[in-house]
Amino acid sequence: MPHDYDDSNIFARILRGEIPNDTVLETEHTLAFRDIQPKAPSHVLVIPKGKYVTFDDFAENASPEEITDFLRACAQIAKAEGLSTAEGGHGFRAITNAGSDGVQEVPHFHLHILGGRVMGPMVL
Ligand code: C5P
Repeated sequence: MPHDYDDSNIFARILRGEIPNDTVLETEHTLAFRDIQPKAPSHVLVIPKGKYVTFDDFAENASPEEITDFLRACAQIAKAEGLSTAEGGHGFRAITNAGSDGVQEVPHFHLHILGGRVMGPMVL
């Protein structure tokens, strides 16, 4: 079954410039901005510019260029935030929530990058 994309979701509105955001990085296919309710000292949301609802929608339907651009943007953010272990940082957690059991609030695929403190157990 195809994933129905709701053009009125808040991240679609951010992408259209209708709502301000604290941009960390923008590339051809990807936008990253700070979460308005940060759960860690570094809490960045990374979203594709394309209309994908969930992680699996993105993984199945995005082009290789979009996927590479997205993943490289994530790595660049981890480095810029001082979180990359390859650069002497202490690491981070990357989370995506999908659907109702995943408790996804915004129906536009996004990855949370959280760092700057020791994370709790994986079960939330
Ligand atoms: O993964 P989930 O959909 O639950 O997370 C949505 C996230 O988007 C929340 O962490 C919320 O704080 C964030 N948000 C935001 N800016 C908005 C609306 C929501 O950073 N304008």
